[in-house]
Amino acid sequence: MRLINTKTLQLEEFPDDCIPPYAILSHRWQEEEVTFRDMETAIASAKKGYTKLSSSCAQAAKDGLGYVWVDTCCIDKSSSAELSESINCMYEWYRCAAVCYGYLYDVDELSVGEGSSFRSSVWFTRGWTLQELIAPSKMEFFNAEWHCLGSKVGLKDAITAITGVPEPVLTGELAPQEFSIAQRMSWASGRTTAKVEDIAYSLLGLFSINMPMLYGEREKAFIRLQEEIMKQSDDHTIFAWKSLDQDYRGLFAKSPAAFAGSAAIVPSLSKWNRSPYSVTNMGLSIELPLIPWAMDTYLAALDCQTESKSNRFGIFLTLLPESNQYARVILDGEDLPEFDSKLSPHCEYRKIYVKQAVSGMQRSQEKIYGFWLRHFPARDVNPRAEFDVTAWNEWDHNERLLVIPTGQRGSAGIIRYQMKSGRKQNLKVGFDSMFNPVVQFGGQFYSPSSFGKPNRDDFHVKMGTDWMDPKLEGVYRGDRLTGLIMEDAWTRIFVFDDIVKEKRMWVVQIEFAEQGGWHRDTICDGCGLNVFGTRYKCRVCPNFDYCTACKEADKAHEKHGYEAINLIRHYGINCDSCGDTIYGTRYKCRDCSNYDLCSPCHGDAIQNHPDHRFDTIKKPR
Ligand SMILES: [Zn+2]
Ligand SMILES: [Zn+2]
Ligand SMILES: [Zn+2]
Ligand SMILES: [Zn+2]
Repeated sequence: MRLINTKTLQLEEFPDDCIPPYAILSHRWQEEEVTFRDMETAIASAKKGYTKLSSSCAQAAKDGLGYVWVDTCCIDKSSSAELSESINCMYEWYRCAAVCYGYLYDVDELSVGEGSSFRSSVWFTRGWTLQELIAPSKMEFFNAEWHCLGSKVGLKDAITAITGVPEPVLTGELAPQEFSIAQRMSWASGRTTAKVEDIAYSLLGLFSINMPMLYGEREKAFIRLQEEIMKQSDDHTIFAWKSLDQDYRGLFAKSPAAFAGSAAIVPSLSKWNRSPYSVTNMGLSIELPLIPWAMDTYLAALDCQTESKSNRFGIFLTLLPESNQYARVILDGEDLPEFDSKLSPHCEYRKIYVKQAVSGMQRSQEKIYGFWLRHFPARDVNPRAEFDVTAWNEWDHNERLLVIPTGQRGSAGIIRYQMKSGRKQNLKVGFDSMFNPVVQFGGQFYSPSSFGKPNRDDFHVKMGTDWMDPKLEGVYRGDRLTGLIMEDAWTRIFVFDDIVKEKRMWVVQIEFAEQGGWHRDTICDGCGLNVFGTRYKCRVCPNFDYCTACKEADKAHEKHGYEAINLIRHYGINCDSCGDTIYGTRYKCRDCSNYDLCSPCHGDAIQNHPDHRFDTIKKPR
């Protein structure tokens, strides 16, 4: 360690095991500070900063100390190895000093009273001065003229009010390590540093972390600091931060500023988290209790809370397209909501991966947590015919939306309607706990567990999720990314992601197989979606088509008259390109045996089946 001799004002070097008692300076850098190189020449005494050195030495000599350490000239900053080592040792150097002098060049008063410029000194706004305040056991403050303003302990009320650092930390009764990670981060939340990386490097000592300096890594330094802290602690308060960032985020904050509101957050006494977590090449791997909360988004419980409240905090995690990959998001403007303890029985522990690198990636348009039902096959539209809906939202025959409100989960709607034949049909839609869409068409109205029970018609019993078992009659489960295409001899059920009236949602299309043609090249002029089933082509307006639902809804247009176009089903013949049953025109290859294409795929045949000739089959034989 290099120290300035208070008598000679020359630098002297000491091995670690025989360092003499020394005073240490804590200050804000100003113009013309004296550097290590300057000390070897006569330039030093000519610089403005020299007065600060000589005054520090004079004060130390007055206090009976032979040496002073000052960060401007006691480190050779031209050596990155020495700089890195010094930054890692800095907290210890401040902690071991006989006394620390807090020099406030912007304070002129002789005492710290109400309205004193002490409270607004820039010394309190800098990153590095946080550890310089906390580490030394003895600290004296000086004004611009080196007049003593008082000690850290004597001024503790004012300092706590300015910095948020609790009094017991200032008096030394409690070590900073006795405070949660979020609490310690909150002390740094309002501070700034000249270099972005220093906001992280200046916190190493406060978290007892050592890591190499990589100037140029910018904001990554703070992520790296959090990774290092996490390696040594299972304190979930490291995740207890908030930001206004609307994009996808990782579990780590971008800067200590995100912890501004976390000064009272402590780890929960009872831990729900049962296994260790760590950074892997797939992201941060962690097991958390999750509860479906909004479309593709879970509320996850953290093991932290405020001392005064019993509820934990939670964060919102949304599924990314990659399997088991999640990102942290804001939901409805909320970032760190309370997690009601009453939800715990509904939680599911799941091991997930949260990537930090998604930070800054734009969120895709949010999908409504629900379904739009395009129509009800063969429904008897007579107003007296039964049509019974159980749903979270009020049912509207024109809207036909079934939406699960934020914080709810499972079934979106249970519908029983009368068909033209007089038969009753059951239709249910909902999401499993992985947000896969599930549809029931036909089958039982009551789910197996409520069968015969007196409360089977209660809303929450009906809206339970136990009907979502694909082993049950008429129940089909889709995939959260690709939806569902189900086809059997009688019905075709499609569930696909689409934008309806500027909102993204799942669209449910159910057709009886004979009318199940998908007019992939015709857009309905009513709803803007591809026409399924019967296409109604206006006899008057050029290029005007309606789907069944839009045709039924718009009675005004009816006077023009429509041509009903149904695609003929080639039963049992599947397209060798898309796999779907062929509707409409079938293209059979003349050169290959058993090779058929549907009409849309035939359009692409030049690419996927070149140089072959096709027979056009309009009707099945
Ligand atoms: Zn339409
Ligand atoms: Zn028309
Ligand atoms: Zn095809
Ligand atoms: Zn061929």
